[in-house]
Amino acid sequence: MLRGLMMDRPLLVSSVIDYAAEVYPDVQIVSQTVEGGLHRYGYAQARDRIGKLANALVALGIKPGDRVATLAWNGYRHFELYYAIAGIGAVCHTINPRLFPEQITYIANHAEDTALFFDLTFLPLVEKLKPTLKSIKTYVLMTDREHMPADGQLNGLLCYEGLLAEMDAAFTWPEFDENAACALCYTSGTTGEPKGVLYSNRSMMLHTFFLIATRPDLFAHNRTILPVVPLFHANAWSLPYITPLTGCTLILPGARLDGPTLYDLMENEGAEAGWGVPTVWLGLLDEFKKRGRKPRKLAQILSGGSAVPQAMIDTFTRDYDIEVTHGWGMTEMSPVGTLTLFRPEERAKPPLERAALSARQGRRMFGVDLKVIDEKGNRAPADGKTSGELFVRGSTIVSGYFKNAEASAKQIDSEGWFGTGDVAKITPDRWLLIVDRTKDLVKSGGEWISSIDVENAAMACKGVANCAVIGVPHPKWDERPLLVAVKAPGAEPTKTEILDVLASKIAKWQMPDDVVFVDALPMTATGKISKKDLRAKFADYKLPT
Ligand code: AMP
Repeated sequence: MLRGLMMDRPLLVSSVIDYAAEVYPDVQIVSQTVEGGLHRYGYAQARDRIGKLANALVALGIKPGDRVATLAWNGYRHFELYYAIAGIGAVCHTINPRLFPEQITYIANHAEDTALFFDLTFLPLVEKLKPTLKSIKTYVLMTDREHMPADGQLNGLLCYEGLLAEMDAAFTWPEFDENAACALCYTSGTTGEPKGVLYSNRSMMLHTFFLIATRPDLFAHNRTILPVVPLFHANAWSLPYITPLTGCTLILPGARLDGPTLYDLMENEGAEAGWGVPTVWLGLLDEFKKRGRKPRKLAQILSGGSAVPQAMIDTFTRDYDIEVTHGWGMTEMSPVGTLTLFRPEERAKPPLERAALSARQGRRMFGVDLKVIDEKGNRAPADGKTSGELFVRGSTIVSGYFKNAEASAKQIDSEGWFGTGDVAKITPDRWLLIVDRTKDLVKSGGEWISSIDVENAAMACKGVANCAVIGVPHPKWDERPLLVAVKAPGAEPTKTEILDVLASKIAKWQMPDDVVFVDALPMTATGKISKKDLRAKFADYKLPT
């Protein structure tokens, strides 16, 4: 091999904010604050405060490799922590505050976090958890002096703005190996303890580049993007890095993510694109219907994290002229694996015909290799028919979990690919179709029923606001599908009406044996429908014979 003669400079995330400060100094980050009101500043001002924060972290004794935890919403201080922590060579460990308190304790102790930065909302939670948090020495409340509690149970609680006020904005980033860890995120995991995914500066930069390279149109300069996806959910899908790098305006929505609040923020700030999980968009769609229109500039939605129903894509496209980009990925993949990506002949189709392709999980992002392994352990052909477990490989994908050799060994195959636990097929023209999560497939008499397919069909029924399909025990077939549905406000769909619609869309053996209506579906900490909880709730459900 003849070695190339180019400089070997490390890819470090700190370089992103320096670039934005220089090239896009006045492009804004707008945050809905926890204290109330909006906060705005440009990337240059953000860089100044990140420099102060980096100085403060060093003064607090935080060292390269230390894990620094956050319990925070999408806001400018959380954004600053992303950069300052990674910039000094430490690891920004975003903890999902919606997890059960015992899980938060487990995660913080497993990660051996040394400091915790948290929003005002979580003061009572942190006070309660403190006796169980073994390694955290420094607690910082992410607010100003005015909002610091007069007395509290947290001795020595520090004030974020107080720390910054004493610091100099100048901070030259240290240079270190690009493989140094920069962020840590635990997957909530439906079984066993949460598992840590430790991202490196290099993987984070590559993920950012790969995503921009695969869909540059999503980040055209000055686009205004609102991540509803939390900064604690898989790096908010790289938006905190992509927006400064491409000069996009970033709108951070804070603590309230209900339809009316999001609508107002999008309307007032002229959001052009929103990123989040499908349940968020279902809530927002209700609001569109109530107000009779969409937020004036909203033209694009990126929906991922669970399957996006065709009916929802069609409504956004037909009624509101909003293009839906569907993404599939995992925390373990930084997180994007595939996303809606049209070939020129598909792009030329009318919007509704294009939308018909968007319920598929997309084509692979550059840098991500896919393989499907069938039941016999062979590589399945890309024929759109043969399904099997989906494996992935790439420089933005975990090679093993943090301090968990056992879990790592289970999920990496002998060729070094990561097993996703998703069942999938790939069409000859390379669309990925996720059939289901292995655990969510309904195993009926040796056949597998895709809960996603049945849900997709049910979401097209008038009067169904949301739904989920789970397998419930059946004496003859092992399991049969049960459709659990939430009615749209004011609608009264009946079981027979729903089953009639389904009968025209899916095969007889896939038909749910019963339909039950509930007021709301249980959600996971990342805003997905929790099938685990649903299965537990309906474990003893007797299907009609
Ligand atoms: P998480 O790491 O919590 O984001 O969860 C990753 C899992 O969510 C994947 O393994 C899939 O089972 C599921 N998932 C994510 N995106 C999609 C999608 N677009 N369609 C179907 N399932 C999805």
